[in-house]
Amino acid sequence: MSICYLNGNFVELSKASISPLDRGFLFGDSVYEVFAAYEKNLFRLDDHMERLKKNLESLSINIALKNSEIKSILQKVCEKNPEENQIIYLQISRGAEAIRNHIPIKETQPTIFICSFELKNVPSEKNDPITAVLNPDIRWKKSSIKSNSLLANVLYKMHANDEGYDELLMSDDGFLTEGAVSNLFCVKENKVFTPPLESNILPGVTRKVIIEIIKDINLSCEEVKIDEEFLFNSDEVWITNTTKGILPVIEVNNKKIGNGAKGEIYRLVMKAFLRKIEDCII
Ligand code: PLP
Repeated sequence: MSICYLNGNFVELSKASISPLDRGFLFGDSVYEVFAAYEKNLFRLDDHMERLKKNLESLSINIALKNSEIKSILQKVCEKNPEENQIIYLQISRGAEAIRNHIPIKETQPTIFICSFELKNVPSEKNDPITAVLNPDIRWKKSSIKSNSLLANVLYKMHANDEGYDELLMSDDGFLTEGAVSNLFCVKENKVFTPPLESNILPGVTRKVIIEIIKDINLSCEEVKIDEEFLFNSDEVWITNTTKGILPVIEVNNKKIGNGAKGEIYRLVMKAFLRKIEDCII
C-alpha cells in the first residue's frame, strides 16, 4: 500500500483518481519534480523547490499552496510511506476543465499530485558503469522547463533500451546537450567540462551539486560547449540525475571512453557526493 497526496487529501495510490479532462493528460500542460529522500530526508529540497517555482511561473500556473506548505506535504508523503529511501514524485497540472480547449480558463484549479516510490538503488561507489548511444537532439527549444511533455525522452529511452544501451546522449548541431534523463559531464586532463545552461538543457539539481563538489575539491569545472569529437576523446564521461546520482559512461556508440573503466576523478567526486548525502541525514 502506497500513500499519495492529491488535491488536499492523503489517499491510497490505488484509490487516487483525476479527470480524463485534466490538461496534464490532454496537453501535457503540467510540470513535475523528482526528489530523492535518503532515510526519509529530502535531498537538496530548496533547489528542487526553486526550480519548481520557476517552472510554474514559466507556464503561468498559480497554485494556492505556499512553498512551506508544499515542503510539509512532501515530508508527510515521505513519512506516510514505509520505505527508508524514496523517490518522491510531484506533478502540478493546470487542472481539469469541462471542454477541451488549448486556451485555458483563468479560474481553473491546478491538480497537485505527490506520490512515493521506493529508491531501490541508492547511489554507491559500487554502482556499475553504463553505456550510451548518441542521437540528434530533436526536442523543443524550452527543455529547461521540467514539463511533462516528455514524448521525445520516452522515444529516446525506448530506442536506447531496444538497442541495449543504458542512456541516450543528445547533440544539437554537433554539440552535446544532455542525456534523455540526465545531465552530462566530461573529464579531460583532470579538468571537468559540462554543457552550459544556455544549451537548452534541464538545470539539473544533481548537476548543480556536482559543480559545487568539483570546485570544493579544487578542480576546475568549465560550463562550455562540448563537441562530439571532444566527447569521444574524453578521459571520463559521467551522467547525473536525482535517481541515479552520478554514473560513469564507459562506452558511447560502442566506442570506449578513456580506458573503458571508472575514472579517478569520478571516484573522487562520487566520494564527496556520498558525503553530501550523509550530511543531509539527521
Ligand atoms: N536532464 C533531463 C532531461 C532529465 O530528465 C533529468 C532528470 O530526470 C536531468 C537532466 C537531471 O536533473 P536532476 O539532477 O534535477 O534530477
